[in-house]
Amino acid sequence: MTEPTLFELSAAGRKGVNYPDSDVPLTNLPANLLRKDLPMPELSELDVVRHFTHLSRLNYSIDGGFYPLGSCTMKYNPKINEVTSRLSGFANTHPLQPIETVQGNLALMYQLQDLLKEISGFPGITLQPAAGAHGEFVGVLIMRAYHASRNDAKRVKILIPDSAHGTNPATSSMVGMEVAPIPSDARGNVDLVALKAACDDTLAGLMLTNPNTLGLFDENVLEVVRIVHEAGGLVYGDGANLNALLGIVRPGDLGIDVMHFNLHKTFSTPHGGGGPGSGPVGVAAHLVDFLPAPIIEIIEPGSEEMAPLYGFKTPSKTIGRIKSFQGHFGMLVRAYTYILMHGPDGLRKVSEYAVLNANYLLSKIRSTYHLPYDRVCMHEFVVEGFWPDVHDVHALDVAKRLMDYNFHPPTNYFPLIVKEALMIEPTETESKQTLDEFADVMVKIAREAREDPQLLKEAPHNTPVGRLDEVKAARDLVLCCWVPEGE
Ligand SMILES: *Cc1c(COP(=O)(O)O)cnc(C)c1O
Repeated sequence: MTEPTLFELSAAGRKGVNYPDSDVPLTNLPANLLRKDLPMPELSELDVVRHFTHLSRLNYSIDGGFYPLGSCTMKYNPKINEVTSRLSGFANTHPLQPIETVQGNLALMYQLQDLLKEISGFPGITLQPAAGAHGEFVGVLIMRAYHASRNDAKRVKILIPDSAHGTNPATSSMVGMEVAPIPSDARGNVDLVALKAACDDTLAGLMLTNPNTLGLFDENVLEVVRIVHEAGGLVYGDGANLNALLGIVRPGDLGIDVMHFNLHKTFSTPHGGGGPGSGPVGVAAHLVDFLPAPIIEIIEPGSEEMAPLYGFKTPSKTIGRIKSFQGHFGMLVRAYTYILMHGPDGLRKVSEYAVLNANYLLSKIRSTYHLPYDRVCMHEFVVEGFWPDVHDVHALDVAKRLMDYNFHPPTNYFPLIVKEALMIEPTETESKQTLDEFADVMVKIAREAREDPQLLKEAPHNTPVGRLDEVKAARDLVLCCWVPEGE
C-alpha cells in the first residue's frame, strides 16, 4: 500500500495561509531567480495536519504499545526528560559559546560523569561517543593505545564470545584488530577451556557482554577476567545490558577495564527511529589517561560565594577527539534527568523489576516455547520460535503474527547460537496486565501454528504494509517519494 503524497492530495486553488493585503507596490522578482517550473502542492492547513498525523500513526512506538525488542531495552521514555532537555538554557546554547556562558551545561555534564562513575565503578568517563557501537570503537582504540604505550604492539587479537552482538567484531575490525570467536559452554557462559587455549602473547583483550545476549549472567565472570588479565589482555565490557545490574553489580568492581553505556537503553532516552543515541565510555584507573579529549573538569574550584568554574581537560595520552563538540548533549540531559529522578534506590528497583518482569514472562511461556539454556534469566531471555512437530513454521512467522495483536515483535534470529531465536526483553516499565496479555497471545500463536499455520505464514494481516524485503529496505533506501514529472 502506498500512502498518497501531498502532491496527490493537492487541489488547485486551495490554500493553507492567508496573507494580509500588500501595503507596498508590487514588483516582479528577477526572472533569473525563478525556476521555470516549481510545482507546489495546494492544501489547506487541515489537509497538511491530517496527512502528517496519519503518517505518524503508521509507526509503532513505545508510547503506542508493548515493545519487547530483546537487547534494545525499549523502556518507557518519561516525558519529564523532554521537558528538561527543552529548557531554553540547554536547548538554545551553541557549542562554540565561551565556556563562561555555558557553565550550567558543563556542570550537568560534569555531574553526569560523576553519576556514571558511581553507577559503574569506573574512575574515568567520556560522554562523547554517539552510540554503543561508537563507544565500542573508542574502547578498542583505548585498548590498542594502552598496549602501544607499553611497547606491546603485537597484541592484535580480540576474543569475542559467539553470543556477542555483531557490533563487537565490527568495531574491533574497524580498529584493525584480529577477531577470534570463543564458544559458549552448555550453560551459556564463556567456555573457559576454549578461552584459556586462545590466550597467548598476541591477546589484546576480550569483549564480554554481561549479562550476555542470552539474558544470562556469566557465572564465571571473575575467572574470565582473571584469565584474560593473566595473559596480559584487557577486558572490554559491552554495557548494553546494564539495565539488569543497576545498584546491584558494578562492572568496574568485577575487574572490567573499559565499558560503554547505552544511555538510550538503560537511561531511557528515545532510540531507534526516535532519535540519536549516546554511548559514554567508562575506564579503569590505568586507562584514564587515554580517554578522548576533552573531559569536563573543574578548572577553578568554587568557594562559599562562587560556583566552581567548569571547563575542558585533555588527558595526557588521549586517543584524540572522536566526536564533534560534546556528543549528543540533549541525550545527556535526558539521562541525567532519569538518573536523578530515580536516585540510587530507584535505580536498583529498575533493575530488580526488569529481572522480575522477564522471569515472570518466561514462567508464563516456557511450557509452550523451548528454552535452550534452562536457567533463571536476568532482564531478558531467549526461546526458540519453532516446534519440531510443526512443519515449516519459523520464528519469523511468530514475530510477524504478533503484529496482528498490536505487539512489536521480539528480536529474532539473534543471538546466532540459538536456532530460530526469539529474544524477549519486557523491561521494568510494563505492568503485569501487559505481560499477561502478551503471554496469552504467545500461547495462542503457538496453538494457531498447529491449527492454522497459514495464519502465521501470511501474517501480518492488519498492518499498513505486509512482509517487506528487509535487506532491500535497508540497502536501497528511497527517501524521496515524489519525483517531478518528466525527470
Ligand atoms: C544495542 C547493543 C549494542 C550497540 O549499541 P548501539 O547503541 O545500538 O550502537 C552493542 N551490544 C549489545 C549487546 C547491544 O544490545
